[in-house]
Amino acid sequence: MRLIILGAPGSGKGTTAVVLRDKYSLAHISTGDIFRSNIKAGTPLGIEAKSYIDKGQLVPDSITIGMVEARLAEDDCKAGYILDGFPRTLAQAQALDEMLAAKGEKIDAVLSIKVDDEIIKERVTTRRVCEKCGASFNVKFKPTKVEGVCDLCGGNVVQRADDTEETVAARLVTYYENTRPLIDFYQAKGLIVEGDNNVDSESCVRSIEEGLKALGI
Ligand code: ADP
Ligand code: ZN
Repeated sequence: MRLIILGAPGSGKGTTAVVLRDKYSLAHISTGDIFRSNIKAGTPLGIEAKSYIDKGQLVPDSITIGMVEARLAEDDCKAGYILDGFPRTLAQAQALDEMLAAKGEKIDAVLSIKVDDEIIKERVTTRRVCEKCGASFNVKFKPTKVEGVCDLCGGNVVQRADDTEETVAARLVTYYENTRPLIDFYQAKGLIVEGDNNVDSESCVRSIEEGLKALGI
């Protein structure tokens, strides 16, 4: 199964993707995570990506598309994957279609996660993430048992550099301009499955599972 998860920044794409990854044994490909690990390691890709990410802008397609193509060629993708944070532009979506068609493959469903902007702003600025395993916490709604320490792996729990109020506002503008049109693009292909994440992620995952069943997946 090949899935895409679409949604505004901080809508819970990552959290939902991890649940589905475990449930359906998929590879989880988060372009944000790939960029962040490159930034941490100080690679040329990371240095270039950081200048865009810190401003809440998209990393150019010329960098991002090749990076994803290489990732999709890795062995763990053969049994299926969930793309989290890619595609984010129409050009990326078209490039993805082409790279899949060349292998005789296609996307089975596109999960569209809905959350109101006001809730996003509150959730993102109070969000904290584990540097080691990627688990998400929240100082207000889901604090770690010990401050700054991951409940799951003991890693350092920190605030992402782009989770400030100003950067979240910029990321939302970027989302509406570039990524939101992809919902129509995939709706026209009959691939959209909706999940509402305004209340909690359990009910969001449940409606996604029902939507997948309705598509015969
Ligand atoms: P969020 O969805 O919460 O914004 P991500 O971890 O998915 O977080 O992405 C963080 C940042 O990485 C984005 O704001 C953007 O700058 C960059 N990025 C991630 N995926 C892409 C992509 N497909 N194309 C361009 N830039 C991307
Ligand atoms: Zn952890």
